[in-house]
Amino acid sequence: MNNPLQYKVVIVGGGPTGLATALHLAQRQPALAQEMLILEAAEHPRPKVCGGGVTFHGEEQLQKLGLHLNVPAFTVNQLVFRLGRLDFSVPFPGAMRVIERRLFDAAIAEAVTARGLRVHSNEKLLDLQPGPDGVMLKTTRHTYRAAVVVGADGANSVVRRKLNLFAQPGIARLLRVLTPINPEEEEAWRQQTAVFDFSCIQHGIQGYSWDFPCLVDGQPHMNRGIFDSRLAPQLQHHLPHGNLKQTFLASLEARQINLSNVRLEGHPVRWFNPEAAFARPHVLLAGDAAGVDPLFAEGISYGMEYGSIVAEQIEDAFARNDFRFQNYKKALQQHRLGRLLRRRTFIARHLFAYRQPEMFFLIWRMATIAPLTIQYAFGSFLGLLPPRYETAV
Ligand SMILES: Cc1cc2nc3c(=O)[nH]c(=O)nc-3n(C[C@H](O)[C@H](O)[C@H](O)COP(=O)(O)OP(=O)(O)OC[C@H]3O[C@@H](n4cnc5c(N)ncnc54)[C@H](O)[C@@H]3O)c2cc1C
Repeated sequence: MNNPLQYKVVIVGGGPTGLATALHLAQRQPALAQEMLILEAAEHPRPKVCGGGVTFHGEEQLQKLGLHLNVPAFTVNQLVFRLGRLDFSVPFPGAMRVIERRLFDAAIAEAVTARGLRVHSNEKLLDLQPGPDGVMLKTTRHTYRAAVVVGADGANSVVRRKLNLFAQPGIARLLRVLTPINPEEEEAWRQQTAVFDFSCIQHGIQGYSWDFPCLVDGQPHMNRGIFDSRLAPQLQHHLPHGNLKQTFLASLEARQINLSNVRLEGHPVRWFNPEAAFARPHVLLAGDAAGVDPLFAEGISYGMEYGSIVAEQIEDAFARNDFRFQNYKKALQQHRLGRLLRRRTFIARHLFAYRQPEMFFLIWRMATIAPLTIQYAFGSFLGLLPPRYETAV
């Protein structure tokens, strides 16, 4: 690694996490941000397998960054939670926006370059060596030296692997299909509904399947997928873990969803483990590289929120000339992000531990007959809806 280019901060990954980190740092320390580089292996607009659901929490994060992204979106006005034959729905105008990640991420990247921040596209990190005074990075184009590196390079993070943190548990599997629809024939589209169906728990999948109406290249589609957190210890040892692909395809076939000419795509998500390692001297992990939501696999909003915490840590490190990042884990745990992710982890561990979660059947049964405010409280307890019903409607 001869004659490396020098930067104070290098952010690896130009997804929502890396881009939000850059924007937060630019808000806090404009001079420091001028000596920052974002490395992105692809070039925006780049494809990203995702459900595309942006919750109120994601909208809050965008607001904090002063971003008003003008991208095509389908507005969801009702959330349906299903378990077996039990359904309950929470009507709420603008509960969620379903966006196309390709366009959403590209719009954030555009804001980043419009603010004069440096992004190198089509440049992939290959190797990284932390040392006592900083980090050496080798990419497909150059070598760099940085005082701080942010690993925002997603669930398959190279930064994480190079820090030897890859083997820690916490990888969830997800599959998704995008199917073109006739909007008049699709109830979810007409009712502007997003469905979260946890029935796959009964087939040994520790997660849920989703049905989100959306636009792909401006055309009506359904974004359908399944999430298997693999979070809970297997309590019923005699039953094998469910087969994700088979379970997903069987549920689509049972609903006569035409799968000809559509592609089944998969990608992992790393879930938040509060006891995991999130940093090494001079290096911080954020977003999917660090861990996000184990209950819904929500990661767009959390990724952006990581950005604000990381920016604060970096500002503090330069102010104190101490780059060990020993407080980062505690800061994450104590932040709203860490508290909500821990709450979701708690629910996920209990909900996903059994194939027949009797207590949750009872909760669902009660929720189906509960007044709207109680249903709403459930949605906001899970962090899917804003905290106060009265102020939100
Ligand atoms: C099927 C599926 C459905 C999902 N649905 C939702 C949803 O509806 N709502 C929601 O909120 N979340 C959802 N998620 C989670 C969400 O997609 C992630 O949490 C989110 O993308 C995390 O953002 P990130 O910036 O941390 O990582 P990413 O979005 O993965 O971005 C990482 C970036 O790093 C770049 N990169 C990777 N390696 C390198 C390298 N070596 N060098 C340089 N650059 C590199 C990549 O090209 C990429 O642009 C879903 C995930 C999946 C898989």
